[in-house]
Amino acid sequence: MAKLTGKTALVTGASRGIGRAIAQRLAADGALIAAHYGSDEAAAKDTVASIEQAGGRAFPVRAELGVDGDVDTLFAALEEGLSGQPLDILVNNAAGPSDGPIEEATPEGFDRLFAVNVKAPFFIIQRALPLLRDGGRIITISSTCTRVATPFQTSYAMTKGAVEVMGRTLANALGTRGITVNTVTPGATVTDLNASLFKTSGAEVYLAAMTALDRLGQPADIADVVAFLASHDARWITGHVLDASGGMYLG
Ligand code: NDP
Repeated sequence: MAKLTGKTALVTGASRGIGRAIAQRLAADGALIAAHYGSDEAAAKDTVASIEQAGGRAFPVRAELGVDGDVDTLFAALEEGLSGQPLDILVNNAAGPSDGPIEEATPEGFDRLFAVNVKAPFFIIQRALPLLRDGGRIITISSTCTRVATPFQTSYAMTKGAVEVMGRTLANALGTRGITVNTVTPGATVTDLNASLFKTSGAEVYLAAMTALDRLGQPADIADVVAFLASHDARWITGHVLDASGGMYLG
């Protein structure tokens, strides 16, 4: 029997990139997947189709995050898809990209980034708590930019610092229910977000050279780590920030 047979999982931002790989991996492990997306319906359908073709189960959940009513929209679709089943695993993966160096920042862009990357995961967790089974899993995707200063993404790094603190404090709050709360920090990972940038700017070569394992990450590299944290094997790990970067910027 697969490790997650009988379990359910919500993966935000599952239409593309790292979120899609997480959804595919948790489905391969047996979980029923709620594949959340913001606007790219075709990509979300592709995620669901790829899971079903591999013999898994998934349904799409549309909700733009960072706008009024986002969590209500998400949970209306989630609860319909779960048809009364509880939730076992919540993966907060969706996030907006850096809005540039401080010289280019605007209050509106800053508020939007925090709304999508911090406020949304926090209130998704709050709304999920009554649905989450005791012994459940909450996993949030951060970034290595919380330990390495990258000036072109200060506000983005601030949002990721916030979710890492959230993970530690929530782990303490939810431990009595056996719910673990952990955070995963990818390094440079090839996704739609940055594939063309990496190729055309030479950043691919530079970032690989800054990585102990001498290559960029692939979404599946991150998905496998999330699957471990979601599994029974990781039952004694909570409040942890797990670096999944291939050893990026080790010095
Ligand atoms: P992508 O841009 O490839 O995918 C982002 C996903 O999040 C999509 O499914 C998108 O939905 C969804 N999303 C984004 N904004 C919103 C929003 N406002 N409302 C609803 N859905 C939204 O991102 P990655 O796969 O590259 O990144 C995934 C996670 O990993 C993020 O948390 C990111 O910060 C983190 N990360 C990524 C790194 C990398 O190098 N790629 C490095 C370190 C961390 P839709 O398809 O509908 O637009």
